[in-house]
Amino acid sequence: MGSRYGVRIRKLESKVLERQRSAYECPVCGKQKVKRKHFAVWACNSCGTVIAGGAYELSTDVGRSARKFLSQG
Ligand SMILES: [Zn+2]
Repeated sequence: MGSRYGVRIRKLESKVLERQRSAYECPVCGKQKVKRKHFAVWACNSCGTVIAGGAYELSTDVGRSARKFLSQG
């Protein structure tokens, strides 16, 4: 097992954590206060709106990638 593999994994993890920590714009109040609360659950700290989104980032591509996945099967 080379150490290069471990470095690549750590880099990926830090990228994911970066996105998890960042706040997203709330579609309801427009403030950049939406943060991940639980797995795929996001909540706005300003107006309290709860959004079901991506596991690691609030993404509008969730539906698109789901359809892509379905078409493969
Ligand atoms: Zn809001």
